[in-house]
Amino acid sequence: MSQISTLVTTGAIALTSGSLRAEPADVGFGPANPFYAPSSLPFHAPPFDKIKDADYQPAIEAGIAQQFQETIAIADNPAEPTFENTIVAMERSGQLLSRVMGAFSGVTGANMNPVLQKIQETEAPKLSALQDATYLNSKLFKRVSRIYEQRHSLHLDAESLRLVEYDYEQFVHSGARLSDADKAELKKLNEEEANLSTAFISKLLAATRDGAYVTKDKAALAGLSEAELAAAAQAAKDRNVDGWVISLQNTTQQPSLLSLSNRATRQALFQVSWNRAERGGSNDTRDAIARLAQLRALKAKLLGYPNYAAWNLEDQMAHTPAAALKFMDALVPAATARAVGEAKEIQALIDVQQGGFALEPWDWNFYSEQVRKAKYDLDEAQTRPYFELNNVLHNGVFYAAHLLYGISFKQRNDIPVYNPDVQVYEVIDADGKPLALWYCDYYKRDNKNGGAWMSNFVNQSRLLGLLPVVYNVANITKPPAGQPALISFNDVTGMFHEFGHALHGIFANTEYPSLSGTSVPRDFVEFPSQFNEHWASYPAVFDHYARHYKTGAPMPAELAAKIRKAKVFNQGYEFTELLAAAELDMQWHSLAPDAALQNPDTFEVEALKKTHLWLSAVPTRYRSSYFLHIWGNGYAAGYYAYLWCEMLDDDAFRWFEDHGGLTRANGDRLRKMVLSRGFTEDPARMYAQWRGAEPSVEPLLKERGLELAAPSR
Ligand SMILES: [Zn+2]
Repeated sequence: MSQISTLVTTGAIALTSGSLRAEPADVGFGPANPFYAPSSLPFHAPPFDKIKDADYQPAIEAGIAQQFQETIAIADNPAEPTFENTIVAMERSGQLLSRVMGAFSGVTGANMNPVLQKIQETEAPKLSALQDATYLNSKLFKRVSRIYEQRHSLHLDAESLRLVEYDYEQFVHSGARLSDADKAELKKLNEEEANLSTAFISKLLAATRDGAYVTKDKAALAGLSEAELAAAAQAAKDRNVDGWVISLQNTTQQPSLLSLSNRATRQALFQVSWNRAERGGSNDTRDAIARLAQLRALKAKLLGYPNYAAWNLEDQMAHTPAAALKFMDALVPAATARAVGEAKEIQALIDVQQGGFALEPWDWNFYSEQVRKAKYDLDEAQTRPYFELNNVLHNGVFYAAHLLYGISFKQRNDIPVYNPDVQVYEVIDADGKPLALWYCDYYKRDNKNGGAWMSNFVNQSRLLGLLPVVYNVANITKPPAGQPALISFNDVTGMFHEFGHALHGIFANTEYPSLSGTSVPRDFVEFPSQFNEHWASYPAVFDHYARHYKTGAPMPAELAAKIRKAKVFNQGYEFTELLAAAELDMQWHSLAPDAALQNPDTFEVEALKKTHLWLSAVPTRYRSSYFLHIWGNGYAAGYYAYLWCEMLDDDAFRWFEDHGGLTRANGDRLRKMVLSRGFTEDPARMYAQWRGAEPSVEPLLKERGLELAAPSR
C-alpha cells in the first residue's frame, strides 16, 4: 500500500502544481499535456501530431492517481451501494488512464524508443499495484457483493446483470473472498510466482543466447543460402567469436534445419536447442519451473480449487480442464496417425537416397522440405506478383468485409499518425453512419515488436459515448520507394487474420467498456480472427484480389490450386507438436497442491506418454524447460486456447458453407449474435446460440487434412 500512497502524492502534486521541470518524470501534468482532456479529433483519435515522448509519463502517473482516487471514493461512499454508484461508477473511472495507455501501448509496440522503454519499465509495477489495490480492496468488494446478492431483484437489463456477475467473479477470482491472513498468504505466493517467472525469463534469455550453435568449419554449414551464411557470419561477429553462429529461436525446431545437408550439424543444432535450458549452472530453468508449478497449485488450493488449471479455466469458454482435455484427447489419434504416415514417407525418401539411418527429429524438416517440393512445388516467386499489398487490402480484406457486413472504407489523410507508414481509414456502416476508425501499420521496422497484432486506441462504449478506434500492426518487408509491396500468401492470410480481430473491435456495440469488443477469454479471442482467414482463400474473394500487379490478370488456376493444396502439407507433424505442448501445459497445471516437487524431465516424458503424444521423431513444440508461454507469458493452463479457437473457426466456417457461404444475411447474423457482443454473454452460450449446436472438432480435422486418418467412431 505504501507504493500506492506515494503514487497518489506525486500525482496530486503534479496535478496541483502544474510546474514544468527539466526531467520528463518531474514534468507536471496540466492542460498543456495532450492527454489532459479527451481528444477533439474525430472518434477521439489520439492527437499524435501533438503528443511528445515526454507527455506520456506524467499523464500515466496522473491517470493512475486519478483512478486510485476514484476507486477509493467508490469504496468509501457513505451511501448504500447501488448499481449506479458502484458498478457503473467503476466503469466510468480511469478515463484519463485509458486515454493515455491506449496511445502508449500502441507506440511502445510499434514505434519503440529508449525513452518510451524506460517509461514502460518504470510504470509497469505501478500499474499492477493499481490492479491489486482495486481487487483486494475489501470495502469495494463488500459493495460489489451486496449488489451481486440482490442482482435478480434490481430489474437490470441483461448486459447490466452480466456486468454485475463479471465484476463479482473478477474480485473472487483475484482472491477478494479470502480472510486477511489468506490474502497475505496469496500476496506472498503471487510475489514468489512473479519473481520466479521473471527469473525464468532471464535464465531462458541467457540460455537461448548461450545455446547458439557455433562452428569454425564452413563445410558443416553446407546447404545454407548465401544470405543465411552471411547472417551466421554476422552473428559470430556480433558475439566476437570466429566462424559462424546460428542463434536459437524459441521453438524446438530451428529454421536452418530445413536446409542444413550435413546430418551431424543438424543433430548438433537440434541438441543445443533441446538442451538449451538443461545444461546445469545458472541458466538451467528446471528448478524454477518445478517450483512455479508447485506454487501455482498452492495458490489454487488457497483460492478453493483442486488445481491451477481449474482456477484458471473457470472464466474461460472451456470452463473446466476436463472440457479442454476431452477436446485435445479427441484430436490425438488423428494427428499422430497422420504424423506416423508422414514419418514413413520421409523414411522412404531417406532410404531411396541410401541414407542408411532411421529418421530422427533433426532430419524431419530437411526431408519434409524435399517432400513438399516434390508434392506441392509452390514457388513464392510465382505467386507474389498476384498479391500486391494495397490491392489485397482493398480488393480482398475490405471487399470480403463489405460483402459480408455491408461496411465500407474511406481513407482519412487528416488524422495524425505516429509514423508515416501508418494509414487511417474511417469505417462506414451499411446505413451510412460512421462506425469506427481503423489504422494499419503493415511494414517492418527495427523499433517494432515482431509478429502481428490488433488493439484499440479507444475502446467502444455507449456509456462513455465512445466509438472504437482500432489498429492492425504487421511486419511485412517494406519495398524500396516507388516499388509495389508484393507479399506472400502467408502475409495475405495474416492481413485477414488481424482484420478479423479488428472487426471484433469495430463491431463492438456494448454499453460498458469492461465487456466491449475483444475483452473476451483467451480461448475465444482468436475465433473472429481465425474465422476471417477463411475468406482469404474463398474463391469469390480470392479471385477478386489475386490479380497480377502489372496486368490485372487473374492467378492461373493451377497456381491457385497449389496454394490450397499446400495448406495440408506436414499437418500431422505440426498438429502433433502443438498438441504435445498444449497437453504438457495442462498436465503441469493439473498437479495437486500436495504433490511433491517434480523432476521436469521425467514429468515431461510421463505426461506425453500418458496422453499418447510420445513420438520419437515428433518432439513437443516447446520443451517444459523453455516453454516461455506458460512460465513467463501468461499462458499457464492456456496454451490449448490456440487449438480450441481453431475448432471454433473451422466449425463456424462449416456453418457458413452449409448456409449459402458468403452472404450479407450470414454476415449480419454473425455480427449481431457474436461479433458485436463482446463479453456480454458467456462465449460458450453465445456460440451455441449462433451455431445452433455445440462446436465440433470434425471441421478442424478436415481443414488440416487429417480427417482420413481419424478413427471411425
Ligand atoms: Zn490473433
